[in-house]
Amino acid sequence: MSSSGDHQRLIIIGSGPAGLTAAIYAARAELAPLCIEGIESGGQLMQTTEIENFPGFPQGLMGPELMINFREQAERFGTSFVTDDVSEVDLAATPKVVKVGDRTWTADAVIVSTGATARMIGLESEAKLLGHGVSTCATCDGYFFRDKELIVVGGGDSAMEEATFLTKFASKVTIVHRRDEYRASKIMLDRARANDKVEFIEWAGVTEVLDDGTGAVTGVTLTDTRTGEERRLDCQGVFVAIGHDPNTKLFRGVLDTDENGYIRTQAPSTRTNLDGVFACGDVQDHEYRQAITAAGSGCAAALDAERYLASIGDLPDPSIDADRDEADHVTGSKPAVAVRVS
Ligand code: NAP
Repeated sequence: MSSSGDHQRLIIIGSGPAGLTAAIYAARAELAPLCIEGIESGGQLMQTTEIENFPGFPQGLMGPELMINFREQAERFGTSFVTDDVSEVDLAATPKVVKVGDRTWTADAVIVSTGATARMIGLESEAKLLGHGVSTCATCDGYFFRDKELIVVGGGDSAMEEATFLTKFASKVTIVHRRDEYRASKIMLDRARANDKVEFIEWAGVTEVLDDGTGAVTGVTLTDTRTGEERRLDCQGVFVAIGHDPNTKLFRGVLDTDENGYIRTQAPSTRTNLDGVFACGDVQDHEYRQAITAAGSGCAAALDAERYLASIGDLPDPSIDADRDEADHVTGSKPAVAVRVS
């Protein structure tokens, strides 16, 4: 079978480091993958500032820049992109079915790399004031809080990173954490602690976001997690940095997940419970959740998918390869194809 019309050898759902690395490897293996990248393409690194720990970039680089590089590399080798969200799948069918609105594709193999989404505290007032002082993304919204007093909720690397970043704009940032031990790595915690603009309040949770009738954040109610005692803390912004949930709604009841909704894979492979369906990146990893580990699992998923396609006899047509080699010889690189669905 070849990737013609709306039938694909391989569809990749998601375009973070995992999905795009899978796309790079699959495209270089001549599988001509279709990547349905989502409306908000690029994954969580699009909402990040400087990345200092991605190997190969000794001076660091911005998250969005890294993801643009990933995408360009995938496109260079012949990955096609659809810039929209998948609306429905039937992964148990043969071939597998992937829908985006009224467009339908079939595929012999699918790689799921839909990542994870920022978690919220779950308060009504938090939801009401989202975008009016409540945010889950310091990189996106920090600029709007120049000389303001902010709080960041959480005790992990995200909270430390966001708090440190926000001091570029804010006059003061208070990290509110529900206990006195931190999941954050020592280096990130030390960096936040060394910052004069950062303060810490431990053993406290935000139980109400206040606006005093203004429609924008004016403070929070903090509740002592040991005694239940409440107090008010004035601030103009609340950044929620308490972790993420896997984006697995589309696959519920079809792909095996753990109790937190993360897709179970058959380690050391990226195979799921369904033949021909592979999962990589944060959608199946709640342990490491790094760009580099996501990219590594994306590579593994592409190799697993390639082996699977070979096992079912869906090998690349040699005549297509010959045509491609000819094209490479002329252009120096493989043609990029972009499919946009609006
Ligand atoms: P995380 O490590 O899971 O930390 C979440 C934090 O939020 C924990 O301190 C947790 O408290 C707290 N929390 C969870 N639910 C809460 C709630 N309902 N109310 C109040 N607090 C709550 O998540 P993360 O910080 O997003 O980090 C995720 C992964 O990404 C980690 O592996 C991290 O190393 C990585 N990361 C790396 C970087 C970097 O290297 N630049 C930056 C960001 C993230 P408890 O501890 O009490 O459970």
